[in-house]
This record gives sequence, C-alpha cells and structure tokens, in this order.
Amino acid sequence: MTSSAPAPAPPTDGLDHLPRTMRALVKDHAGEGLGFESERHRPTLGPRDVLIRVRKAGICGTDRHIWQWDDWAAGRIPVGIVTGHEFAGVIEAVGDAVHNYAAGQRVSAEGHITAWRDYNSRTGNAHIARDTKILGVDRDGVFADFVVVPEENVWPIHPDIPDRVAAVFDPLGNAVHTVLAAGVSGQSVLISGVGIIGLMAVTVAKAAGAARIFCTDVDPKRLALARKLGADEAFNAAEGDGFIKAIRSATRGEGTDVLLEMSGAPMAMDQGFRALRNGGTAALLGLPARSVTFDFNANIIFKGCKVLGINGRKMWETWYRMEDLVLSGRLELDEIITHEFAIEDYEKAFATMIDGAGIKVLMNFE
Ligand code: ZN
Repeated sequence: MTSSAPAPAPPTDGLDHLPRTMRALVKDHAGEGLGFESERHRPTLGPRDVLIRVRKAGICGTDRHIWQWDDWAAGRIPVGIVTGHEFAGVIEAVGDAVHNYAAGQRVSAEGHITAWRDYNSRTGNAHIARDTKILGVDRDGVFADFVVVPEENVWPIHPDIPDRVAAVFDPLGNAVHTVLAAGVSGQSVLISGVGIIGLMAVTVAKAAGAARIFCTDVDPKRLALARKLGADEAFNAAEGDGFIKAIRSATRGEGTDVLLEMSGAPMAMDQGFRALRNGGTAALLGLPARSVTFDFNANIIFKGCKVLGINGRKMWETWYRMEDLVLSGRLELDEIITHEFAIEDYEKAFATMIDGAGIKVLMNFE
C-alpha cells in the first residue's frame, strides 16, 4: 500500500543567508522513475540537527528499488520523499544545541536514525534499533542540495579522504561490517555475489588478511573485476555448481572457513553453505526478494556452523575500522566507483547503474 509524505513546508529556521529552495530528486509518483524538482523547500534546521550541503551522493541498490518501484518500494516508500542516503558534503549550519560541529566541516552521516530509546540503542547495537528511520527511505534523503540529520548521526570526514570515497562510506560500511563480523584473518573465504558491496567485500577481505578469497556471480565482467581486486578464484555460478568441488579440493576437502553471502539469491545461498566447511561461519548481507526454501539440516544444523545476520553498520565501530582501512591505502576503490554525473543528468546516472555498465555511480551537486 502506498503512503505519502506531507508536502514540504518553507524553512522556518531564520537562516536567511541560505537559499530557501533547492534541487532535489523526489519520488513524486507511485511508479517508475524519480522527479527532478528545482525549487523544493530547503529542510528546516532543528535545535539538535546539522544542515549539510550535499556535494556528492551515491546511487545504491535501494535507490534502484525505489526508482523501479517494486513491491518492496511500493510498500515502504512514502510518495513525495527526497531519496538517497549515501553522500559527502559540508556543514552549512548547526542547531542551537549542537556544540560538536561547526559550519565548514566536511561530513558524511550514518543514514540509520534511531531515537536512542530501545534496548539495542542503549547497549551498543544501535544499528539494529527497533525504531530506526532511514534517510531517503523513511525521511527526506540526500539527493538534494541540502539535508538535515541529527547531530548524533554525523561522521566527520578525515582530511586525507576525498569526497568521492567518503560518499560511499555507507555501502563500504556494509562490506566492512560483514567481513569483520565473520572474521577473515588467515581464513579461506567465499563471497557469493559480487555486486557493489560484494566487490567492496573482496578488497576489504584482502586488506583484512584473508588467506584465500573465492567468489561466485553470474556476471563474467564482475567476476573479472573481482579477480583484479584480489580474488584468487572467481566462478560463474550460471555454469552449475561444479565450483563447490573445486573449492573443496582447494581447501583440503573441507570447504571454506567463511561464507560472505552478498547475493540474496536462493541458489547462491544454498551453494554457498554447501561450500562452507563444517563449523564455519556464514555472514549474510544479501536480501532475498521473498521467503526462501532452505535445507537447514544439511546446511546449518549438521554442519554446526555459525550464522550471522548483518544489518547496516555498527555505530560507530564500523566507521572507525573503515576509516583506518581506507587510510591504510590497501583498499582498491577506484575500480568500483566507476561513474560520476551532474545531478541534472540523474536519468543517465540511474540508467548507467541499472543496466550494469556502471558499478558505483555518483551524482555531483557542485
Ligand atoms: Zn546504500
């Protein structure tokens, strides 16, 4: 069922030196595509908020769902919302009660916004809070000249990290969270699905000291790139599950120590677990489109493996680890961030992402 967001009101924060309107990509109808608004009201800065001028924003798989208006999007996204959640920008103004940030600072932000009231928020696991609202999904997002986020969600960008890299901290954080939660140092790892986050997981796993990295996908171009980023072997799962045998014989007949499931495809999940050794660890990030039939007996119970569900990024542990990994110079991100478009060319940007010609596609607001 489709809901709608209230029409945006003019800003009432008295910041008269700033424009009262802005450019924005808006989910302006219940159907395919997004609308470009050139005079959307700028969001109002609240006392505990930070107002950020967006410089670069990344197109995520989530944004593709919203663009294509599939069942998930139709059930979740209010019509009228500004989309987008991956970005880098500069603080324009801070609310009266904000003391840790100031105008002029380069920042990104954690897009999962919680009220910090529930059990998990209060015990170090705010990434799985019950009351989370997501930027560009549940409230106005970053495909606009300005976005407002609570002070708690702001992440200052290290001076040595360029905007184009900081703009992908959200998906890179998914990869870092998954890889570090599973623990890959000295381990053999299978990454099933090398889309944007799967490819990021290859370079993160390599940097985090994985002993051997295997990948599967059905796209030969992505498999080739996975090899370039450090995968030892990349198998085309469309050619059948013979690769499971190959992985076993490369791992003393046991299977890999770790499975990082990034595809959400039922077949890949089954193959991935079959290639995992008894007692191994599986970290699942890929989202199946619907309920999956799965052999729990063979794949989990008798295997005695550990299964981790991965959601978002740990606040802020993942962000610190990610910053250190980026600063180490060991991550290969240039091959993953393939395209940049001006915001006015958003249709081209989405087409490049959706048809697979681009991997991570950025839009520029400058
Ligand atoms: Zn994203």
